[in-house]
Amino acid sequence: MPQSSSPTPGQDFIRQIVSRDVASGLHAGRVLTRFPPEPNGYLHIGHAEAICLDFSVAEEFGGSTTLRMDDTNPTTEDPRYVDAIAEDIRWLGFEWAGEIRYASDYFEGLYRLALALVEDGNAYVDSLSEAEIRRHRGTVTAPGSPSPYRDRSVEENLDLFRRMRAGEFEDGAHVLRAKIDLASPNMKMRDPLLYRIRHAHHYRTGDEWPIYPMYDWAHGLSDAIEGITHSFCTLEFENNRELYDWGVDYTRPSAAGIEEIPGALGGGGSEPGSWDPRPRQYEFARLNLDYTVMSKRKLLTLVSEGRVDGWTDPRMPTLAGMRRLGVTPEAIRAFIDQVGIAKADKRVDIETLESAVRSDLNQRAPRVMCVLRPLRVVIENYPEGETEQLDAPYFPRDVESPPAEWPETRQIPFSDALYIERDDFSEDPPKGYRRLAPGREVRLRYAYFITCREVVKDPASQEIIELRCTYDPATRGGNAPDGRKVSGTIHWVSADQSIPIEARLYDRLFSDPDPEVGVEDFHENLNPDSLELLSESRVEPSVADSVPGTHYQFERVGYFVRDAAEAEDGRPAFNRTVTLRDTWARRQAQGATGARGGGEKRQGAESMEPPGSGERATTTAPEGVEPSKRSSRAGADARAASPELREMFARFQTEHGLTEESADLLTRDSAAAALFEGAVSGGGSPRGVANWIIHELRGSTEGGALDELPFDGGELGTLVALVEGGEISQPAAKRVLERMLEGGGDPRDIVEAEGLGRISDPSALASLVDGLLEAHPAEVDRYRAGQAGLIGFFIGQAMRQTEGRADPELLQRVLLERLGQPSP
Ligand code: ATP
Ligand code: MG
Repeated sequence: MPQSSSPTPGQDFIRQIVSRDVASGLHAGRVLTRFPPEPNGYLHIGHAEAICLDFSVAEEFGGSTTLRMDDTNPTTEDPRYVDAIAEDIRWLGFEWAGEIRYASDYFEGLYRLALALVEDGNAYVDSLSEAEIRRHRGTVTAPGSPSPYRDRSVEENLDLFRRMRAGEFEDGAHVLRAKIDLASPNMKMRDPLLYRIRHAHHYRTGDEWPIYPMYDWAHGLSDAIEGITHSFCTLEFENNRELYDWGVDYTRPSAAGIEEIPGALGGGGSEPGSWDPRPRQYEFARLNLDYTVMSKRKLLTLVSEGRVDGWTDPRMPTLAGMRRLGVTPEAIRAFIDQVGIAKADKRVDIETLESAVRSDLNQRAPRVMCVLRPLRVVIENYPEGETEQLDAPYFPRDVESPPAEWPETRQIPFSDALYIERDDFSEDPPKGYRRLAPGREVRLRYAYFITCREVVKDPASQEIIELRCTYDPATRGGNAPDGRKVSGTIHWVSADQSIPIEARLYDRLFSDPDPEVGVEDFHENLNPDSLELLSESRVEPSVADSVPGTHYQFERVGYFVRDAAEAEDGRPAFNRTVTLRDTWARRQAQGATGARGGGEKRQGAESMEPPGSGERATTTAPEGVEPSKRSSRAGADARAASPELREMFARFQTEHGLTEESADLLTRDSAAAALFEGAVSGGGSPRGVANWIIHELRGSTEGGALDELPFDGGELGTLVALVEGGEISQPAAKRVLERMLEGGGDPRDIVEAEGLGRISDPSALASLVDGLLEAHPAEVDRYRAGQAGLIGFFIGQAMRQTEGRADPELLQRVLLERLGQPSP
């Protein structure tokens, strides 16, 4: 079947490149990417961007991804980081092809390639010190000058390099340099170092190697050895690309001894540059996030100085830290998706991440009640010693499909002694305060109206220690038969039957959005209040049996997750993942009047906001007219002029669970909004539909052309449903969309006509696999002889033949069946 020749509309530039290559038949349409972490620390959220790119691009084009430890630096690497890295990648939802690879497994191959380079007269042993080499290198405006050793004979170079490898010289006595061009405008090309002597112990190769390859040598050629087709890295390597290419072009693949290298899928002939496939490097902008630093080296200082509780401290921007904070992999992937792949460096507002976390948790976290800072309330007219159970829903109505593991409701005990939040009472309420105050009536959520009759104080300190209240038995469930209103609704727990917990309120690790600017040392910007431990908090009893990792929304308080590490006294501990939306802070910023209370920046703000009337659990409240950090001026202007758009902006968030950014992008004009609504009715999930409109359609249609599409929302919804139901692959869906853009039509008909459906017929896949095994006997033998990693090769081949349409799980099963176990 012919590949589509034009890139799919709306693709980022990386995907456009890969589309182009696949379409032109480069490497026979094969795509193999790699993720190459250095095992010198835990992965952080920046790495997540690279991981999502490397793995998703390969997946979308029916290819696969290797995981390679870039472990060429013996002094900083540690096997425990290897395990942590592997765990984090799996947690994000990705699986690499075959075994974990190690650049250190390629040391011998790399060395042999270097020997051949020396033989070809393209590298020499320099005996200047590194400082002298730097001095000889020239400047951006002045060319470098040759080392006196530059014209050593090939024989002498070979002899010296072999003796370097044999360990005959001290550290620093010699280096191996590429012989390129001392006048190159690219400083990296001025005879760069390829090998250094370092008598250092390596965590995998031990003392076998007294020389270690430099990054530029090891990286590009590891790619070539592994058979990588597309090598994505961050922009700071842009200048290294020329050297990457030079290494690939000047080495003779046959010299590397590929047959002996486990997992190597690359190869080629004895001509310099005849690598097959020939890998290419592409750079994308690294992700920088506000209020964090994102370098493993810097994060390591926080760990080793004890500023945080290890790499997995919930304040760390590491994936392991974020996991403990309660962030889900889905939220991280949605965030990475939203940020997109760019060509220019960017800083991302932490709000964008927080909002992705909220929209994810909004859909999965049951609502329960927890009082962080309790104030005792005695209901004077409630029968003493009695308890009743009140029924309360776990999820608000606008969560469309609450996770199946949660029942619809749980029971909350009510009795004559309760706790409410200290912040929810004010003896002298300021204007606009809508919670409890002397003589005032409020609603206890899911329970009764209560009125405050008396404030009891400690005679010595004058601190409020208890409120005496009465309740109205007729308001059970939260509504008065006479229809009277109360000023607000507050949360509560039973005094005797609630469970004491430790609440850990995490805040940003740094107090400055860009912690490294304007200070000598970023440690100066550490936020001293990044963790507040609350030891009096109490939660409703339904939470007692939750397992670590369970997410909750403590209503009006924030999203929390149960931590595996309990409090010191054995109480269960809950980490605050993220606050609820900070509407209070926004109102303050806009100059609205209201009560100020609490004291902490993030959490107190929330408990100010009453959740609104009606017994529904809280979701985040939308606003639509003033642009916030997460929505645009253009959108705000459009919505200021249109009540319908305003209504939709709010509803898309509350009812459909869209993030504010997505809702904003979809309500700048009525065409996009109508398309969205039509597609959701047509069967696509709201977030899926939003993604397709924002990322695929908007990019491929000029400006406002969404109202002139040759198909309607319902048809788009069908398409999204087909992908979401696994009936077609992502790349196939993009092809269908292209066809729809060209001439409309029912997506199902297009899938049918173009044969784009997933191949999930076991016998069809079995015969495809048989054909493959027959066509690649050498790989089959190598696989059976123990190169288990070759499974990735077969998957790649099968995906290529089926243009990514083979059902991946089934394919893997059939392959394993036919290939059998590799011998150990
Ligand atoms: P750090 O400075 O945090 O140690 P690094 O680049 O040295 O980062 P590596 O382990 O070498 O860490 O990175 C593995 C891959 O992740 C590389 O391809 C790198 O380009 C990518 N990467 C690292 N940081 C980011 C980031 N902030 N955004 C996107 N990609 C990143
Ligand atoms: Mg690095």
